Amino acid sequence: MQLIDGNKIAEAIREEIKAEVEALKKEHGVTPGLATVLVGEDPASKAYVSSKQKSCDELGMKPFHYKLSADATQEEVESVVQELNANPQVHGILVQLPLPKHLDEEKILGMISLEKDVDGFHPLNIGRLSMKGREPWFVPCTPAGCIELLVRSGVEIQGAEAVVLGRSNIVGLPVSMLLLHRNATLTICHSRTKDLAAVCRRADILIAAVGRTEMVKGDWVKPGAAVIDVGINQKWLDHPADQEWTCATTGETFVAHRKDQSDKGGRRKIGVYCQSCNEAYLKDHVPDDCQDCETIDLYRKYALVGDVDFDEVKEVAGYLTPVPGGVGPMTIVMLMQNTLRGAKHALGLV
Ligand code: NAP
Repeated sequence: MQLIDGNKIAEAIREEIKAEVEALKKEHGVTPGLATVLVGEDPASKAYVSSKQKSCDELGMKPFHYKLSADATQEEVESVVQELNANPQVHGILVQLPLPKHLDEEKILGMISLEKDVDGFHPLNIGRLSMKGREPWFVPCTPAGCIELLVRSGVEIQGAEAVVLGRSNIVGLPVSMLLLHRNATLTICHSRTKDLAAVCRRADILIAAVGRTEMVKGDWVKPGAAVIDVGINQKWLDHPADQEWTCATTGETFVAHRKDQSDKGGRRKIGVYCQSCNEAYLKDHVPDDCQDCETIDLYRKYALVGDVDFDEVKEVAGYLTPVPGGVGPMTIVMLMQNTLRGAKHALGLV
């Protein structure tokens, strides 16, 4: 089995991008610019946006960042998008999703200039991707990353039987269209597909994007198949100090342990133990009058795993991506590649 190393492939693409950015600056005096728009304080979204800005810096691109409060109005977000559409230094606009519920996400994404839609989610970009003989300006980053992993690992897509698990707008559907463009014979599966295992077993190329922990088992995979695992799921792990607690607010029981310095890897705070009340609470159910009490944080250990049962599938597949370190690192590098493409497009070079 050949392990498809997403970190290594992403690094090679970053070097290519860096060299092109340098050349663009030297020959045309233009620095590719990526604008990120963050609405609200979601910690995961904040982390994604800051890693995109960091990537810009590393690759010699210019980051622009717009931060709006969680109660920003539709008009405020739209006016930022319009301003960025009009700014010639900005070649890519990324509105970080999800947006707060009161905002019309579809309308905001639809307002991003097609030539700057580096996420590739504008309906016209998706529409062109779905039509024969049409080229989208930009291809969504995670699906583009999956194809790049296959191509750079020498997997033949043309004529291959490809099965995609999942039909979401951000992964399953666009990656399916990309496989079709490259002349694979395509099957798309979803939650109503009958006998998934049998359908998957037909695949020379299997792309799993369902968000279900280790769903694809060894006997779902054709020997020698190329398997791309898009899923990122949190799997709880046991810890020697784990004990069972009961949340005094909800009555739910949960497993957790007190912070342990020997803890390595991921751990998540999931509750607290209040020494004054002598009660345990799930994180979001601590009573208000407990705020000044002496509390101890309770944690649960976890690992990030994919939609594919790695240990089983590695015994059968010909190629396999790990999680983490497979598709994940490709997503951001494809965003940078799209931004570079936006700059080249503005110069009439593509
Ligand atoms: P999503 O919007 O929830 O879509 C999941 C798809 O899987 C849907 O089409 C759904 O079918 C199908 N599905 C769900 N359960 C199923 C089951 N038991 N059997 C068959 N099909 C099932 O998820 P997504 O946004 O595409 O993301 C999928 C996974 O990729 C998640 O783990 C996500 O975290 C990860 N992801 C990773 C990256 C990355 O950079 N590596 C980027 C994006 C997403 P229906 O359409 O019938 O509901």
